[in-house]
Amino acid sequence: MTFLSHLGQQDGLIIGAGCSLAQVKDILAERVSELPEEKTQTYRALLKQLKSLAGQQIRNMAWLNKIQEEQEGNWLSAVWSPEPQHSHMGSGHLGGSAGCRRAPLELTPQPPVPWPSLRRPRLLVTLSLQEDLKQSLGGHIISRHCYSDLNPILAVGNTTLNLISVEGARQMPLNERFLAGLASADLKPEEILESVYVPHSHAWEFVSAFRQAQCQQNALADVNAGMRVLLKEGTGTIEDLSISYGGAGAVMVSAQKSCQRLIGRPWDELMLEEACRLLLEEVSLPGWAPGGKVEFKRTLVVSFFFKFYLEVLQELKKLAKFMPDSHHYPEIPDGFLSALEDFPITGPQGVQRYQSVDSHQSLQDPVGRPIVHLSGLKHATGEAIFCDDIPTMDRELFMVLVTSTRAHAKIISIDSSEALELPGVVDVITAEDIPGTNGAEDDKLMAVDEVLCVGHIICAVVAETNVQAKSAIEKIKITYEDIEPVIFTINDAIKHNSFLCPEKKLEQGNIEEAFEKVDQIVEGEVHVGGQEHFYMETQRVLVIPKAEDKELDIYVSTQDPSHVQKTVSSTLSIPINRITCHVKRVGGGFGGKVGRPAVFGAIAAVGAIKTGRPIRLVLDREDDMLITGGRHPLFGKYKVGFMNNGRIKALDIECFINGGCMLDDSEQVTEFLILKLENAYKIRNLRFRGRACMTNLPSNTAFRGFGFPQGTLITESCITAVAAKCGLLPEKIREKNMYKTVDKTIYKQAFSPETLIRCWNECLDKSSFHSRRMQVEEFNKKNYWKKKGIAIVPMKFSVGFAATSYHQAAALVHIYTDGSVLVTHGGNELGQGIHTKMLQVASRELKIPMSSMHICETSTATVPNTIATAASIGSDVNGRAVQNACQILLKRLEPIIKKNPEGTWEDWIEAAFEQRISLSATGYFRGYKAFMDWEKGEGDPFPYYVYGAACSEIEIDCLTGAHKKIRTDIIMDAGCSLNPAIDIGQVEGSFIQGMGLYTTEELKYSPEGVLYSRGPDEYKIPTITDIPEEFNVSLLPSSQTPLTIYSSKGLGESGMFLGSSVFFAITDAVAAARRERDIAEDFTVKSPATPEWIRMACADRFTEMIPRDDLRTFKPWSIPIA
Ligand SMILES: Cc1cc2nc3c(=O)[nH]c(=O)nc-3n(C[C@H](O)[C@H](O)[C@H](O)COP(=O)(O)OP(=O)(O)OC[C@H]3O[C@@H](n4cnc5c(N)ncnc54)[C@H](O)[C@@H]3O)c2cc1C
Repeated sequence: MTFLSHLGQQDGLIIGAGCSLAQVKDILAERVSELPEEKTQTYRALLKQLKSLAGQQIRNMAWLNKIQEEQEGNWLSAVWSPEPQHSHMGSGHLGGSAGCRRAPLELTPQPPVPWPSLRRPRLLVTLSLQEDLKQSLGGHIISRHCYSDLNPILAVGNTTLNLISVEGARQMPLNERFLAGLASADLKPEEILESVYVPHSHAWEFVSAFRQAQCQQNALADVNAGMRVLLKEGTGTIEDLSISYGGAGAVMVSAQKSCQRLIGRPWDELMLEEACRLLLEEVSLPGWAPGGKVEFKRTLVVSFFFKFYLEVLQELKKLAKFMPDSHHYPEIPDGFLSALEDFPITGPQGVQRYQSVDSHQSLQDPVGRPIVHLSGLKHATGEAIFCDDIPTMDRELFMVLVTSTRAHAKIISIDSSEALELPGVVDVITAEDIPGTNGAEDDKLMAVDEVLCVGHIICAVVAETNVQAKSAIEKIKITYEDIEPVIFTINDAIKHNSFLCPEKKLEQGNIEEAFEKVDQIVEGEVHVGGQEHFYMETQRVLVIPKAEDKELDIYVSTQDPSHVQKTVSSTLSIPINRITCHVKRVGGGFGGKVGRPAVFGAIAAVGAIKTGRPIRLVLDREDDMLITGGRHPLFGKYKVGFMNNGRIKALDIECFINGGCMLDDSEQVTEFLILKLENAYKIRNLRFRGRACMTNLPSNTAFRGFGFPQGTLITESCITAVAAKCGLLPEKIREKNMYKTVDKTIYKQAFSPETLIRCWNECLDKSSFHSRRMQVEEFNKKNYWKKKGIAIVPMKFSVGFAATSYHQAAALVHIYTDGSVLVTHGGNELGQGIHTKMLQVASRELKIPMSSMHICETSTATVPNTIATAASIGSDVNGRAVQNACQILLKRLEPIIKKNPEGTWEDWIEAAFEQRISLSATGYFRGYKAFMDWEKGEGDPFPYYVYGAACSEIEIDCLTGAHKKIRTDIIMDAGCSLNPAIDIGQVEGSFIQGMGLYTTEELKYSPEGVLYSRGPDEYKIPTITDIPEEFNVSLLPSSQTPLTIYSSKGLGESGMFLGSSVFFAITDAVAAARRERDIAEDFTVKSPATPEWIRMACADRFTEMIPRDDLRTFKPWSIPIA
């Protein structure tokens, strides 16, 4: 392993290729602090990119404790150091080492390792998901990824690569030829990059970096750029110019011709116009370019240059102050200055508020107290055991699923012969191996004759190892014959009359008559994209066949073990009582583990029965995303009639959800969507219609909020459309039309909106909404390229299933002779803290501390016939069942306690045992009688409502489409919270998940129906830097709910929708930009409001100058399915 010594370069910096990116950042920061500003332009530009490149965790991988050289088992131990190594730096320009990526100072220099034995070191310490990530400067440069954030700057900064091999050393420029991967500018096979020489910049030279990604961190750039200009001293004339773009093609693109043509031009508006024209000509992206977002990328090409233009102008102005006779540079309007500022990367902070418990409540009673999630620490340390942490069983086999590559086709043949010959392959399981039923007629476990989507399960390979099974699936030859029609989009489904179930409709008043009497009518469309569950733990199951009586033990990650049990029973044609499903905990479900785990459980069980061996089936992220479906994308049309004062008199909404190829939960999702569409508003004349489209995409399914987060976006969009037409603020329209007194919903269920109003008023108050609205307007008046937006949304969310059978639960509580208590109930621990809450209930009822109690798992053997843990009612119903069991036990103990009131719990239990009193009890809760008559459009489908309100403020960059979340305030009505720490966690988590739905999470499908976005690189869930800078959550002081345990409310899902406050704050800012630019404010609402959408909605001279494509002339890279 070599270490570079100082090379004595005075006009630049040499950085060892082995430096981690975190080290590079420190090295550059040090140089920047030491050298005059004019010399560090390139270093500053690199530093700017290093702030957002990947994420802090990924960049910091370099500082982990130990590394292993894979070559010959040669170990290097490196001492962890939180400080960067400085001693190599000196005045000499060396910052690190070649080859050894993360060798801090204390490491004894090793003898050089000859290439090619120098290989990727492997981290011994696993940090979150990025086990094998190291990110050295050398690896980064040599990879020449088209998205590289550093290469464009290194290229414009005239960087030289110092290469070495056994033959000797040589230099090569890091230029466009190298970055384009030309053979003549490539490393020789025996060469390695030893170090990188980055020269200092000079006076009158300016270097800048630009980057725009789906979110600020942990996302590859859509487009990035490095730009450098050298101006003739004291004038504004261009002497030299280089511009490189990443993301704008298959390789990095250097705009050499444009730059050449601009040399000699003064740095002024005319040059800017010409530069934009030239750049768009040279950096040309075809409409079908992979990755899509073509018009956005074209716009960024020129928007970035405009930013550079302004930046340089600003620097020139500063210089001119010291040179009175210098050239006169164009003025920068004050309103343009904010275009120069980037959004800082900040960590969130905030306040959580909740009511304290009654001072008379016994100290031992944990109900209402913020008890820490019982597995919280174990989750953080990795000690919590999930399904796939169960050690390998004796003779265990691994199963991998084979899925369709066609969207709609007949299966002509399946040839497994080659796969079966591979080492380790034991069997291929097909539908023919199923002893019982192959799922439902319209929802088969494994396709038989026909596949309905890409990702449709056809068969499964079982092998001794995961790797063997994975390689075998490549060898299975399936021949297909395509079938017409192939439908992916909602539009096409409507055209082909392709629906999964009949239309659902609710109506009140006389809508047609009302439209005739209103002052104004607006019609519009809303498109809401789907959402991937992205649970941390993908779908997985371990099926263990027992030797006797066809018994099976199934360990499965599910929200509904009884459903898995039932499905396995019918698939294998054995009674339910032979099958036991165990759920210790689930690493996130969000609705995605209600129905689908039964499919995986059943297929694995077929394999287990056929082979007689335990089968483990663990979906990797890519397969999970491909196969399982998610939230239904939605397309809605609305017509809203209103008076000029903003009073809405009539609202007609028709919506369609993309259900995918099978019914699954699509009918219920449509029903819930229609039932909940009115949200918090009293509108006398309403018509809501909804249909689930059948398309050739994987079946969509339950997802937190179950239609509410998508549907209500239409309702709230109507509000903003009305506000725009009336010239009033959206909050005024919301307030005017909100339920105010005891009333009935569109389905005639009576309710009181008192709590809703309280939430709304508190949210206005706690967020200082009105004064901040004024500040936002002030800001917007002063800034042209940055706009702020603020929005407050109210929420009325109904919890529970609209089916009576779901409102029941059971529990089993054992007291052992040492006094310890084992609680079992029908709910599953999904990370939402249900077990913690259940022990709080048991602790209050039995009057003993939680520490004497334990919940081991959810098992169909202890509590049978459970309902899915879903619809926000898990704690409500199971809490009542646990309470019932505990009360039965306490009643039995009463005579003993009476006899010995001074005794201890242990004394009483011992006595009870002696007296032959049963210390085990089943509790049962027969809950709400839900009812809905769709013919009449009436019912009492929901036990109660959760109310809330959220206010969010954001700022957008109109030139790039980026946004920052300044502040969010949420007021949520939790009733009398069982556990405010857990409830606030649920509110925060669901809000952030909602924010992801409405801002960054974007599923992309090919024109052939193949899901592209199958991992975290393509699909962006929010990360820490996406959380609002200030994030305050308050639980409304006690409101009562007689139907639930201790008057608490279920908060699992409702917060999702409150994420839309960020969406409406964004559209508020976009509307402000459009008003200023004199463009119509009634733009089509499209969720998620990605940077692409924001940028293109803020139309301006740059969006106007880009070439537009005629979509009929080429096949696009991706298709919109909503
Ligand atoms: C999760 C994640 C997020 C990322 N986000 C971003 C981002 O936002 N922006 C961005 O620009 N990049 C991003 N990257 C890319 C990252 O910065 C690295 O460039 C890339 O992962 C290469 O990784 P590495 O340094 O481990 O190189 P390796 O994978 O180790 O090496 C890459 C190639 O270079 C060769 N190589 C390595 N060192 C030398 C050397 N000294 N001489 C000759 N050949 C060498 C290797 O043999 C290999 O062929 C991300 C990567 C990951 C995994």
